[in-house]
Amino acid sequence: MTNTFHPPQRTLMGPGPSDVSPRVLSALSRPTIGHLDPAFIGLMDEIKSLLQDLLFTSNPLTLPVSAPGSAGMETVFANLIEPGETVIICQNGVFGGRMKENVERMGGVCVAVEEEWGKAVDTAQVAEALAAHPEAIAVAVVHAETSTGACSDVKEIARLARQHGCLSIVDAVTSFGGVELRVDDWQIDALYTGTQKCLSCVPGLSPVTFSSRAVEKIRERRRPVQSWFLDLNLVMAYWEGGVQRSYHHTAPVNSLYALHEALLILQEEGPEKAWQRHALHHGALLAGLEAMGLSLAVAPAARLPQLNMVRVPEGIDEAVVRKLLLDDWQLEIGAGLGSLAGRVWRVGLMGHACNRRNVLYCLAALESVLVAMDSGIHAGRAIPAARAVYEG
Ligand SMILES: *Cc1c(COP(=O)(O)O)cnc(C)c1O
Repeated sequence: MTNTFHPPQRTLMGPGPSDVSPRVLSALSRPTIGHLDPAFIGLMDEIKSLLQDLLFTSNPLTLPVSAPGSAGMETVFANLIEPGETVIICQNGVFGGRMKENVERMGGVCVAVEEEWGKAVDTAQVAEALAAHPEAIAVAVVHAETSTGACSDVKEIARLARQHGCLSIVDAVTSFGGVELRVDDWQIDALYTGTQKCLSCVPGLSPVTFSSRAVEKIRERRRPVQSWFLDLNLVMAYWEGGVQRSYHHTAPVNSLYALHEALLILQEEGPEKAWQRHALHHGALLAGLEAMGLSLAVAPAARLPQLNMVRVPEGIDEAVVRKLLLDDWQLEIGAGLGSLAGRVWRVGLMGHACNRRNVLYCLAALESVLVAMDSGIHAGRAIPAARAVYEG
C-alpha cells in the first residue's frame, strides 16, 4: 500500500537545497494556469525584470532556464562554444571540473588553470593563460565553489578576460544572493545561477543572463546549437515574444510562481542587506566553531559566508556525525567531496536558512553529538561565543 508522501521536517544547512521560505511554498501551491495565459505573460515579464535588478544588469537576454543549475551551465556552453574553440577553465573544485567536461563535450578545447581545492583561483595564473593562449575565446570561472567553500575574484577575472578580447563565463549558482555579485559593473558576459541555494526557492530552475557581446557570439554561430531544448535562439522567441509568444516548451508554471516570490523576498530585503546578513551569521557560526575547538579549511580571505568547510576532528567518523545530526536533530549538513571526503563537513548558511536560530541550533547540535563521541572538543563555549558576535 503506497500512501501520500509526507517529507520529514528538516533544517537544511548543507550545500543545497536550502530551507525554502513558507512564502515560496505557498506561492508554489497556487492554481496552475496556462503558460500562454496573458496573466502568465505578465508574471514572466516581472521575473525577468526582478532578475535584471537583483543581478545588477540591463541585459535583455535574462531568463530562467526550465531546469536546474546544471542545465544553466550546459545552456551557456552549448550556445557560446563551437567545435575547435579554446576556453580557459578555472578549476578549483567539482564545478570547475564540470565546466571543463561541458566544453569538451561541445567539441571545444580546454586550457585548465588549476588550483588546489579550498583555495581561490589564482588571478595571476589566469592572466598568464590568457597571454599564452591568444586563440582562447572565453574564460570560465565558478564564483562560489560549493564543493569547498572558496570564493574567487570574478570581478578581476572578468576584467582580464575583457582586456584580452575574451568572453567571461561565470557560475553564480551558490553566489547569487549570498555575496556581492554585479553582472554589468564586473563586465560578466554570460552567467548562470540556481534557485535552490541562496535564493531559497525550490530546486529545478536556472536563471541565466547574457551580455550583448555574448548574444552577438550566439548570433554569429556557424552551425546550430546542438541541443534543441537549450538553444537560446528558440528559447528567446518564447521568453521575449510577449503576446506573440510561440510555443517552445511548457514552462514549469508553479515553479515560476515560486521563483517570482523568492526574487521578491530578496528585493524586499535588498541584495546588499542580504550579503551583510550572510556575513553576520557566518561570523557567529565561525566564532562558535572556533570556541569549540573546530576550524575552517579555507583561508579567511577566500571564505564564502554561505558555505563553511569545517575540518573533522582527528579520529571522528564524519558520516556517523551527520547521521546523528539527521536522526536526532533533523539537521542536514554536507559531506566533503573528492579528496576532501571524510576530512571535512560542509555547513551551509544559505538564504532563508541563514539566520540566528539556525546558527545556534547547528552549534548546539554539533557540540552535543561531538561531546557524546569523546572528540575532545570544548563543551559549553560555542553558544556564548556566537551570541557575543550578535551582541557586537
Ligand atoms: C549546485 C551547483 C550547481 C548545479 O546546480 P543543480 O541545481 O544542482 O543542477 C552548479 N554549480 C555550483 C557552483 C553549484 O553549487
